[in-house]
Amino acid sequence: MAKQYDAIIIGTGQAGPSLAGRLASSGMNVAIIERKLFGGTCVNTGCIPTKAMVASAYAARTAQRAAEYGVNTAFSGVDMKRVKARKDQISGQSRTGVEGWLKGMANCTVYEGHARFESPREISVGAERLQSERIFINVGGRAVAPEMPGLSEVPFLNNSSMMNVDFLPQHLVIIGGSYIGLEFGQMFRRFGSEVTIIEMGERLIAREDEDVSAAIKEILEREGVNFRMNAKCIGLARRGDDIVAQVDCTSGAPGVVGSHLLLATGRRPNTDDLGLDKAGVTTDKRGYILVDDQLQTSVPGIWALGDCNGKGAFTHTAYNDFEIVAANLLDRDPRRVSDRITAYALYIDPPLGRVGMTEAEVRKSGRPALAGKRPMTRVGRAIEKGETQGFMKIAVDAKTHEILGAAILGTGGDEVIQSILDVMYAKSPYTTIQRAMHIHPTVSELLPTMLGELRPLAATAADARAAG
Ligand SMILES: Cc1cc2nc3c(=O)[nH]c(=O)nc-3n(C[C@H](O)[C@H](O)[C@H](O)COP(=O)(O)OP(=O)(O)OC[C@H]3O[C@@H](n4cnc5c(N)ncnc54)[C@H](O)[C@@H]3O)c2cc1C
Repeated sequence: MAKQYDAIIIGTGQAGPSLAGRLASSGMNVAIIERKLFGGTCVNTGCIPTKAMVASAYAARTAQRAAEYGVNTAFSGVDMKRVKARKDQISGQSRTGVEGWLKGMANCTVYEGHARFESPREISVGAERLQSERIFINVGGRAVAPEMPGLSEVPFLNNSSMMNVDFLPQHLVIIGGSYIGLEFGQMFRRFGSEVTIIEMGERLIAREDEDVSAAIKEILEREGVNFRMNAKCIGLARRGDDIVAQVDCTSGAPGVVGSHLLLATGRRPNTDDLGLDKAGVTTDKRGYILVDDQLQTSVPGIWALGDCNGKGAFTHTAYNDFEIVAANLLDRDPRRVSDRITAYALYIDPPLGRVGMTEAEVRKSGRPALAGKRPMTRVGRAIEKGETQGFMKIAVDAKTHEILGAAILGTGGDEVIQSILDVMYAKSPYTTIQRAMHIHPTVSELLPTMLGELRPLAATAADARAAG
């Protein structure tokens, strides 16, 4: 006999637990199912542990640079076991927090096991059968291991197995020069590994503007990270204990020899083993569940939230999905996915904070725009901190004066960008920030200055570079 629930939630990532809380406190009888680690990717193998490790890497870098600040100390290396223990403690606290919260929640039953659809209203978890008129899918995604000659011959790491690394790889070779690869790359370089990042494209994180990609490459190169760009034909082989990555590049030696290999080549949704066909839920070609603007799937009564719906790939987008679903179901508030503005950060040091459109997207849109840019070398707070790499830039609509997008690559960039985001949500003109009195000395205090120096957006990225 199937057990009846008012709602079933599959996955305890960044949307499921909060949704369980809202539904259960509204009086619904809720079942939530987790097959592995409570808290999902962010808590166990994503944001939280990586940012804990980024903090250790920052401490190492500061120690290496101590003399620049007049501090007498000799940097004698990193204890990777303690780096991992610190990371495990922070991540573990978060995991047990989620688990304890769910298991102690009134009106909520936790199932541990793999959930699978048996029909549009029935889920199996091992021998158990659960039924509900409302099913919420929050299954997240996992790292992809791409088809690559020789990959089956060599050991490799991904973002999950990197969490077990409690030693210093002598030479970490990373395939993939995007967000995850860059964060791990800088981190392990700071810990003391030699690091080579192999990227198939002409530039890093190609969805960013060219000046952002170029500046990030320079920042990492200054710290000694090696790059092999345009690696169109990657093949792998073993040589004794080493791994050889053959790269068909436009320049440089044909092969990179490393001690360890990290694949940072993208992610795929966990939808292939969910029995979606038995429910009639449709996906796109890559397995992302198709949803409408309020996150309902093709089957009434089934919603998909978080990374598995392809509408976002961040913790904040997954959490925002929860807010949208809860608002629609419980608050008669018709919130939508299309209400949200693109926002994310890349946690290299200095971080990149990004909101809205890139300059390239603004150009493509054809709308008349104004742009401003300021190097961090002209930001007092950055000079005082000895962290002057990067720049801030912004684009605004020349007619409405609304902000279209911004990038802050620089110290505090992940925090400073939020004030721009809030003005964008308020649909206020850029003059709201320009006329605001900001606190001195901060990075934010230069936002009004930059906005006071707007010029027409250059017609091409090359023109923008030439203009400085
Ligand atoms: C290395 C790395 C760093 C990151 N850093 C950041 C960052 O700094 N900021 C940021 O915003 N985002 C970051 N992300 C992305 C972020 O982790 C994800 O966007 C977020 O975790 C997605 O949440 P989710 O709820 O969609 O899924 P997940 O967190 O992946 O949770 C899904 C859960 O569902 C469970 N599950 C799957 N299938 C089943 C099933 N059939 N039955 C039962 N349970 C199932 C899984 O075990 C998992 O616990 C990072 C990701 C990685 C990999």
